[in-house]
Amino acid sequence: MTALVSDRVKALPKAELHVHLDGSLRPDTMLDLAAGRGVAMPADTATALRSHMIVTDATDLEGYLERFSITLSVMQDEEAIERIAYELAVDHAAEGVRYVEARFCPLLNTEAGLSSPDVLEAALGGLRRAEAEHDVRTGVIVCTLRTLDPARSIELAELAISYRRRGVCGFDIAGAEQGYPVREHQEALERAARGGVPITIHAGEGFGPESIRQALDLGHARRIGHGTRLREDDALLERVRQERIVLETCLTSNVQTGVVASLADHPALEYHRAGVPISLATDNRLLSGVSLTDEYLNAHEALGFSWSELVEVARLGFEHAFVDEDVRLEMLRAFDAAASAL
Ligand SMILES: [Zn+2]
Repeated sequence: MTALVSDRVKALPKAELHVHLDGSLRPDTMLDLAAGRGVAMPADTATALRSHMIVTDATDLEGYLERFSITLSVMQDEEAIERIAYELAVDHAAEGVRYVEARFCPLLNTEAGLSSPDVLEAALGGLRRAEAEHDVRTGVIVCTLRTLDPARSIELAELAISYRRRGVCGFDIAGAEQGYPVREHQEALERAARGGVPITIHAGEGFGPESIRQALDLGHARRIGHGTRLREDDALLERVRQERIVLETCLTSNVQTGVVASLADHPALEYHRAGVPISLATDNRLLSGVSLTDEYLNAHEALGFSWSELVEVARLGFEHAFVDEDVRLEMLRAFDAAASAL
């Protein structure tokens, strides 16, 4: 049964709406880049590095985020960033992902002198190369961080707006949630919204429902990164259901950051059956040690999603992609044709 579902899940066209570029590197690429740049890595084989990078020792979101300093140490030049973006899209394509929105904060890649537009151009170049060679469509979500100065967030929003028709599909606020409210970055969010850039915000992961409410009321969010703690507020859950706000649901990552005690404790199926749209995502392929196919299988095995429910969730990913309507319809047509043949 599981082997059968595994093959079908891999063949099912999937959309990945929540994956961090700087949390999804191939370990052998990290070693290769580190060797060429004189950067030290915490392990010297790909296997050892992979297991070091999977977060098993965090108790909260902040602990989980510490690993990014290692990946970012080899992401400070254009060649490395282009390669990492290319490989991210190629790895997704190999497991039946037909649409990927890769997100990152370009300011974190400027330590060796690159500008934010340089960083963005390099990543977009890698994604375009993957699109030319593989059956995958991509976009970039520019992230700011809750911990950054609000003025930096405004710069990043302006960057997203200027690349709106050149590969950037959205704007996000990521990073430590508790103690860093969305309202601090409201000006950036207003500008992104006015500039026609769709917004998703990490919320309800490191903090509770109030954070989700702010993301909707002040942040113009059309999707929520995680939203795991939504179940603590029935009225808000009803609002999210009514307004068709998608929860970008990252099962394994939520266990790693302690938002849920175990995969089986995750509310994803409860949300789906209540009519709250969810889309399964990896968050970070390297740090979480999962592919998107793995997360669909986790939903099936640990939570009890049926095959038809997995198909519904996969379809929601394309429905809520940050794309123009004609692209959405084209992707949905391809999805329906492929899903009905499985
Ligand atoms: Zn995330």
